[in-house]
Amino acid sequence: MEHAAHVLLVEDDDGIARPLAAALGADGHQVTRVATGSEALRVARDVDAVVLDLGLPDLDGIEVCRRLRRDLGADLPILVLTARTSETDVVVGLDAGADDYVTKPFRLAELQARLRALLRRAAAGRPLPSEQLAARDVVLDPASRRAWRGDEELDLAPKEFDLLALLLRRAGTVVTREELAREVWDTRWLGGSKTIDVHVSSLRRKLGDDPSAPRYVTTVRGVGLRFEREDGGQR
Ligand code: CA
Repeated sequence: MEHAAHVLLVEDDDGIARPLAAALGADGHQVTRVATGSEALRVARDVDAVVLDLGLPDLDGIEVCRRLRRDLGADLPILVLTARTSETDVVVGLDAGADDYVTKPFRLAELQARLRALLRRAAAGRPLPSEQLAARDVVLDPASRRAWRGDEELDLAPKEFDLLALLLRRAGTVVTREELAREVWDTRWLGGSKTIDVHVSSLRRKLGDDPSAPRYVTTVRGVGLRFEREDGGQR
């Protein structure tokens, strides 16, 4: 199922909540249904998206929306259901952090489509396994800024991380010293480029490379560096 998610449905009207929960379930989503704002705030931490009615018996839905945004960050998709049709109410909802809204009465298919769009957008903002850089047993995740060799996580300084990312992205090809300076240090001039050498030796050490015969990051004399795709690639 495309972007199946755990959806929190916050709606006190059973006549709306029941068919809606069924429709979302039919889309492959796991649905948690609550009827009050305070329950919503209690369980929202575990869900991937929220469908939130603004007219709730305890708290104002706008206030619930604002707190969800404040407590759970910008990435949680929130789709608001509103019976209020005036433009001001919609604007208030969006200001409170809602991503989109549907006005009651709505067609189930429309709400399902809007939610799908929100989940797709949220998924696009998250690191996907395919966005990781990898060569041999070295894996780097740009989004979380973490890197591993085999099962062991590498403790890299920021510039070492950027350096490794660039080399992995271009694994098997030579990256010139000029490119390294420009991409990693954002400069064209590195005063004799000792800086690069220092970071390269440190990176090699962390990768477990022997500086006199590196197996991962090799020096292409007079040109630059290359992350070897295969062990023994330099010979
Ligand atoms: Ca309601």
